[in-house]
Amino acid sequence: MKKMTQEDILNIYKKSGALLEGHFDLSSGLHSSVYLQSAMVLQYPEHASMLCKELAEVFKGRKIEVVIAPALGGIIVAYEVARHLNVRAIFAEREKGELTLRRGFNIKEGERTLVVEDVITTGISVKETIEVVEKNKGMLVGVGSLIDRSGGKAEMGHPYHSLVVLNEPVYKPEECPLCRKGQKITKPGSRGL
Ligand SMILES: [Zn+2]
Repeated sequence: MKKMTQEDILNIYKKSGALLEGHFDLSSGLHSSVYLQSAMVLQYPEHASMLCKELAEVFKGRKIEVVIAPALGGIIVAYEVARHLNVRAIFAEREKGELTLRRGFNIKEGERTLVVEDVITTGISVKETIEVVEKNKGMLVGVGSLIDRSGGKAEMGHPYHSLVVLNEPVYKPEECPLCRKGQKITKPGSRGL
């Protein structure tokens, strides 16, 4: 199979309405002219499978035994990557504000673990997921994402691969040039824009 390029992947995002342009207040609290909603792409099993296969290929041969993602955004990515690697998929979710394993999910001591996420902006949820792996004494093999919108600046402290590295800047609200121009802002969220 021909490897997908960044452009191929972004085209799928655009066609699915998962990449919007304007002025957005992201869940991280930062502002940007680009908003990505992977759920719009991942609602199509065909796209989910194709993208996650690409990500799975990167970590093939690394003897991954379990794939974990932070809920909610990463769950489908973890599941599809795990399906291609033929291993378990689990997710960490918040309990009293802290990411943890629930529902009987576990990571065995020394189990070779891959952390995945749909979009990495600041990398905070991924770092918290890494902490969950470490707390459970899993062996973290690497981190993967469909899109890294930190421009490659997100530092994971572990081998990290993203299918797409996006250089669209994100701004602190007080430094946002779009705010300065008085451009109307949208807060995308569960109400679906
Ligand atoms: Zn702004």
